[in-house]
Amino acid sequence: MLKTIEGFNRIGEENAFAVLARATELARTGKDIINLGIGQPDFRTPDHIVEAAVKALRDGHHGYTPATGILPLREGVAADIEKRIGVAVDPDKVVVVPGGKVTMFMAILMFGEPGAEILYPDPGFPIYRSMIEFTGATPVPVPIREKNDFAFSAEETLGLLTPKTRLIILNSPANPTGGVTPRAEIEKLVAGLAARPDIAILSDEIYGQMTYDGAVHTSLLEFEAIRDRLILLDGWSKTYAMTGWRMGYAVWPQALIDKARKLAVNCWSCVNAPAQYAGLAALEGPQDAVADMMREFDKRRKLVVDGLNALPGVSARTPTGAFYAFPNISATGWKAKPLASALLEETGVATIGGPDFGILGEGYIRLSYANSAENIARALERMGEFLSEKAK
Ligand code: PLP
Repeated sequence: MLKTIEGFNRIGEENAFAVLARATELARTGKDIINLGIGQPDFRTPDHIVEAAVKALRDGHHGYTPATGILPLREGVAADIEKRIGVAVDPDKVVVVPGGKVTMFMAILMFGEPGAEILYPDPGFPIYRSMIEFTGATPVPVPIREKNDFAFSAEETLGLLTPKTRLIILNSPANPTGGVTPRAEIEKLVAGLAARPDIAILSDEIYGQMTYDGAVHTSLLEFEAIRDRLILLDGWSKTYAMTGWRMGYAVWPQALIDKARKLAVNCWSCVNAPAQYAGLAALEGPQDAVADMMREFDKRRKLVVDGLNALPGVSARTPTGAFYAFPNISATGWKAKPLASALLEETGVATIGGPDFGILGEGYIRLSYANSAENIARALERMGEFLSEKAK
């Protein structure tokens, strides 16, 4: 018997990929599937970005690049952050990685070990807990509550800190809830964290440019008091519809940048060179495609929320970020995972059960509105028929 490390008895997965596989399998058998499960924009990467990658290949960018990314791209990231967030960032603190997920992997590996406690949002992106468990650290869930419009509470978060806390993971705008934490709450949290310079902060801001109804995204990078321990996670996947390109970046504090660079050298050497040129074109080129995509998401958001609230036993808050709705389904009498599974098998509508995002996700399902308005309307109709017939 091969004996791998203990962590593999604890590592988890992202069930969205399993749902996608099942939905694809059902579609192959001829079933009409409407996929509201997947967390990726249903738009093509804008043409000028694709062309930049093709040009990079034609121009001979076929070799290794520096491990942290080509300098023009790191400068481009710094310029983009300065423009959007108003903070000057040293390009030498930027590490370009193969997807936003890689930064959370790195940060959790840096701080996770038996005896350490790591705070993470629940419900939240499932990889946070999975990786914390893998390292042997103790996962400490921070409850994300519907009554708070799925914002995190500074008071509740600070109340969970102990002398063993080594890392705290924050995510706003959030997956799976679409919640956006208001600035006042973030200010309160920062004030509390300022007294704990021994705790690193990973702020996952991958949906930072995806807000609606005038909701304003507040970047943790704005707060100087914590900048020496802040890891900012962002990337191209969502904003530029580039999930398959595997392009992400982080801004690391001085104390961690060399460790981050060494992880890059030890694992992936550098990100695919033409993809880096595409990433630069995305940041420096026209942003109309982003605005167009957000206008379309906004229309669908309203359709989804109104449609969900008209279903028997379902109530949905209006999310102000990302492209997910997280309706409360407890009054249907169904548990969330059996409901998501029955919806897929019996009606062909793919969603994700809330417990796939943490224990506190029970009573909810996640719908991604990365699908056409027409398909969303069809999905809601099927869900309505199903729930009318099969209410428990
Ligand atoms: N962070 C959050 C909150 C996400 O929802 C996702 C993707 O779904 C990621 C990070 C990872 O993004 P990427 O595809 O760039 O690895």
